Amino acid sequence: MPKEKNNLSGRHPLTVITKGSDPYENTLKALDALSLPPLQGKKILLKPNAGRCVPARQGVTTHPQVVAAAIDFFQKVKPATIFLGESPILGVKALDALEKAEMAEIARKKGVCLIDLDERTPFELPIPRGKLVKKLRVCALIKEVDYLVSIPVMKTHMHTGVSLSIKNMKGVLWRREKARLHQLEYAGLKDGEGKALDVAIADMAEVLRPDLALIDGTVGLEGLGPSEGDPKEVGLIVASQDCLAADAVAAYLMGFEPATIPHLRMLSERGVGEINLKKIPIQPTNYAAFRQSFAPPPQKISIQYPNVTVLDCNSCSACLSTTLLFLRRFLPQVPPSFFQDGKLIVGIGKDLQNPPEGLILIGNCTAKHKKKGIYIPGCPPIASSILTRLKEKAKNQKE
Ligand code: SF4
Repeated sequence: MPKEKNNLSGRHPLTVITKGSDPYENTLKALDALSLPPLQGKKILLKPNAGRCVPARQGVTTHPQVVAAAIDFFQKVKPATIFLGESPILGVKALDALEKAEMAEIARKKGVCLIDLDERTPFELPIPRGKLVKKLRVCALIKEVDYLVSIPVMKTHMHTGVSLSIKNMKGVLWRREKARLHQLEYAGLKDGEGKALDVAIADMAEVLRPDLALIDGTVGLEGLGPSEGDPKEVGLIVASQDCLAADAVAAYLMGFEPATIPHLRMLSERGVGEINLKKIPIQPTNYAAFRQSFAPPPQKISIQYPNVTVLDCNSCSACLSTTLLFLRRFLPQVPPSFFQDGKLIVGIGKDLQNPPEGLILIGNCTAKHKKKGIYIPGCPPIASSILTRLKEKAKNQKE
């Protein structure tokens, strides 16, 4: 299992950036440049981002050729086993997502164990220094592996600014445990310092950090991340044995100052690692030339959909993804009777307070307000079921 490390105790490990049009070669080049510990006979878990059932190369899931290169690289060190596993967002099955993302076939061909991390009974991991989260339910395999590689996609995130190697570790939390982190409250933050979710992610990263961050910037995702943004071809790989440094460098390459990303700043303030790029050994030293600004996540979804108001009060990524998918695919089909003064009002999240009458309430968390609007149950509901329910309701209204 990945051990708790304090990267300030010694020299910072190297962070390597490679750029090129071939993701396989790019990945191998980055891994070859690192001095990794001896891994012969060890159990290695590759944890890509396959949290959603989305086709490959859209910037939502890790590029299959990055995963292929990582498998080939680690097979050369003769490990005992290589696992490729995921615990996706609620409502998605890991093996379906890995299949759709074209990673499952690669794993099968190369003799790697494909794992649904949610299958087995989880274990409880205490967080002695946790400010908000004191323990986590973690997928069983994490306890058994010797070396954990986080292979996220370089993307923006509506709730956390960016989603990189540290945030990707939420995908080793067991089933609903991921949603729990979105439902906590924390009073210790001043305005602008971040949200309870940022504190929860920082708490998680106190005890659950990958041994190696391999950030896939082949096709990143900008704007409405983590699932409904726009793909951005970048052609970069960022790799480091210091995941916080890797995330800080990747955030910089995406056009963000690392200290403006709350969970990265919190971890650096807690002494977990370094986000000051001047103190991180980065190869090549002229890395600033690789910087390509990603469109930040919009503060309000209404910017993207001017005729929609989304009241999002502590939803988790699953309901946010459902809502964004519904708006992208089905908004033009919503019967006009549901728009109030030209606006469709949607409520998500457990902390929704005093919502207006006539809104669409998405997800079980909003059940307490169901008398006020059209309630769509599910945790999360399926995007198409929202339209089905609205059409049924419109039909009943006419009869
Ligand atoms: S209903 Fe939605 S916001 Fe609530 S826990 Fe389920 S997925 Fe998360």
